[in-house]
Amino acid sequence: MIQVIIIFIIIGLTVTVILLSPLITQKRRNHLKNRPFPPLWNSIIENNLPIYLYLSPVERRRLQGNIQVFLAEKQFIGCRGLQVTEEMKLTIASVACLLLLNQREKYFPKLRSILVYPSTYLVRETITIMLGNYVVEEKDNARLGESWSRDQLLLSWEQVQQDIYNWKDGHNVVLHEFAHQLDQEEGRTEGVPILKRSEDYRTWASVMTFEYQQLCDDVKQGKKTVMDEYGTTNPAEFFAVATETFFEKSLQLQSKHPALYELLQSYYQINTVEILNQR
Ligand SMILES: [Zn+2]
Repeated sequence: MIQVIIIFIIIGLTVTVILLSPLITQKRRNHLKNRPFPPLWNSIIENNLPIYLYLSPVERRRLQGNIQVFLAEKQFIGCRGLQVTEEMKLTIASVACLLLLNQREKYFPKLRSILVYPSTYLVRETITIMLGNYVVEEKDNARLGESWSRDQLLLSWEQVQQDIYNWKDGHNVVLHEFAHQLDQEEGRTEGVPILKRSEDYRTWASVMTFEYQQLCDDVKQGKKTVMDEYGTTNPAEFFAVATETFFEKSLQLQSKHPALYELLQSYYQINTVEILNQR
């Protein structure tokens, strides 16, 4: 009899913990968001995130809150002897959190650690080449960053710096890799992040398929494109490249691809044309 009561108590406690867990997380995050934002952090972000100066006070406060949560929940690991400084953490966190201004209250839930390399890093890849039978070859490939669907994201700090100093060139490794994180949230990497309403998926598929095909056609015909041709790799890379373009070359994207601009504006809940060109 006592054993049955103990089992019921354990089940009851487990259910209570499961039910209360999101509320506890929310409470903890609200507390983090409301903490005063250190002036030193503010000046680091002002120096390293060009778009920050153009955000409205409400957007800036929201970004600061997201950064506080991000820094409390994610671990930064320096690789190849790199000491991760406060400036590195804040720079990466502030660019990543730009993607979270849409108040979905999700902070890249699968991501636990950000591995920061001093510069380009090499990844050993095994390639099978068909020659007669086949030949397996090992090759070192240079990488600037990558997002793993499990729990890690890798970045080259040298590249992060280059990208923040060239904000308008449409290349940004942090925006790119964190867009992949949004895409990978539901388990697959296919260029479709989690959307608010079920009807949004149809619009997303129709706009993205058309724009992806158009980029592939334009690149094939050697035309000049607003988006980088790396976006033709597959729909997942297209979403990541479109995100970089949306934040860095917003006016060109809006004028050449208005439907895509509108889709991303609605998804990210931020009007980058107004922010970067009209304020
Ligand atoms: Zn990519």
